[in-house]
Amino acid sequence: MTDKPKKALVIGGGIAGLTAAWELAQSQVDVELVEKSPFLGGHSISYCCKATDECVKCGACSVDKMLAQVVSEPRINVTLGAAVAKVDKGGKFTASLDVAPAYIDAEKCDNCGECFQEFRNTGAVVRGYSKNNTPLYAICADAAKDVDAAKLAGVCPKGAINLDAKATKKKINADTVVVATGFTPFDATKKPTYGYGVRDNVITGMELEALIRQKGQVVRPTDLNPPAKTAFIQCVGSRDARLGNLWCSQVCCAYGLRMARKIKYANPEAEVKVFYMDIQSIGKNFPAFYTQCKEELGFVRNIPVDVYPEEEGRMRLSYADEDTGERKDEIFDLLVLSIGITPGEDNAQVAELFSLDQDQDGFLVEKGEGVFLAGTAAGPKNIPASMAQAGFAASEALKYIGVTK
Ligand SMILES: Cc1cc2nc3c(=O)[nH]c(=O)nc-3n(C[C@H](O)[C@H](O)[C@H](O)COP(=O)(O)OP(=O)(O)OC[C@H]3O[C@@H](n4cnc5c(N)ncnc54)[C@H](O)[C@@H]3O)c2cc1C
Ligand code: SF4
Ligand code: SF4
Repeated sequence: MTDKPKKALVIGGGIAGLTAAWELAQSQVDVELVEKSPFLGGHSISYCCKATDECVKCGACSVDKMLAQVVSEPRINVTLGAAVAKVDKGGKFTASLDVAPAYIDAEKCDNCGECFQEFRNTGAVVRGYSKNNTPLYAICADAAKDVDAAKLAGVCPKGAINLDAKATKKKINADTVVVATGFTPFDATKKPTYGYGVRDNVITGMELEALIRQKGQVVRPTDLNPPAKTAFIQCVGSRDARLGNLWCSQVCCAYGLRMARKIKYANPEAEVKVFYMDIQSIGKNFPAFYTQCKEELGFVRNIPVDVYPEEEGRMRLSYADEDTGERKDEIFDLLVLSIGITPGEDNAQVAELFSLDQDQDGFLVEKGEGVFLAGTAAGPKNIPASMAQAGFAASEALKYIGVTK
């Protein structure tokens, strides 16, 4: 008689959870992958390719590749819209899940997008970023309360929308757990002097990623024209004693500079200036990359404190000249806030459910006992580092359950 395959529970379907699930499945372990949102891929599924005339190794495309592998791997079973409510541990782990209603039937939906076309302005139907997510669309229950329910239910030509779908409960037994619940992007409204959420042409690095991914270029939100002058402010929400966020987020220099160069590459006439404290190295090719950046971009070693509104949606930045210390004012069309990585919003609850610790900043820390951490749940890191740590977590989980690779 052959042994029953071992089972692993992976919590979080970002790049770290996807990688851990994939690695475990390659060792013939059955995997239950639980994701709380309606889509797999986490934050980085919305990121853009930052290539100029060559690949700049930003890692963004590796997320879609891993997602495609995971959804076609028969050993991985995915539950979307699911939250772990309780975990019992008696030798094995038994997780009780609350699963949100599946208003769009994945079997019937063929991703035609008619529901999204019709309801996109209401927020009742949202679209994911990758066609490897099926369905590519989801119903947002809160926004759907404000639209004509009969019209929404009837909009799908395949009859895939069922607004009467109910929440369900599910129990999963597993031999080991990988927690990959990721991070929360810094909320830029906590730095109110930058005017985020008040001025339309102040956007975050996360929004710029999605903008370039969706539109293929950078345009100002207010007039959809390419900005002639763009400023990036680095370290927004990181290395900030007033906020109590003392850590470096590790990723925002890399994504900020790569996107700044992409703007310049698309429009060589455009001016792009980066306001920074220190530039974090982004790997072994960093010196050559930084030299290129310095040739193409402006750098000011000072973080502006105040942003003032100007005509036609422009912003005036006030900062101290790094040589003379004199106050300078400069007007920009677009302001990008390079927001950082903060601890996942569910960390306290996840720590309690899976008997993990939290460090002084709130990131998760392993305590052994069959639960392993992957990706930014354990602290700031980029996509390749999240994937590497997920591979390591999967190896440790395999060791714990006695499976050899
Ligand atoms: C603005 C910005 C731009 C960036 N650009 C780059 C870049 O170009 N290149 C690069 O290498 N890195 C970049 N990074 C870093 C990159 O985002 C991370 O390395 C990567 O997303 C980490 O993946 P993760 O799986 O750890 O976390 P996440 O992407 O946060 O995924 C975690 C997943 O877990 C789910 N989840 C959370 N809590 C629960 C729960 N309780 N139950 C079930 N599921 C849960 C979430 O919904 C999410 O799907 C950037 C970061 C920022 C902030
Ligand atoms: S997404 Fe990033 S790593 Fe992939 S091709 Fe584009 S620049 Fe290169
Ligand atoms: S990576 Fe760069 S922008 Fe981000 S916190 Fe560190 S030094 Fe600041």
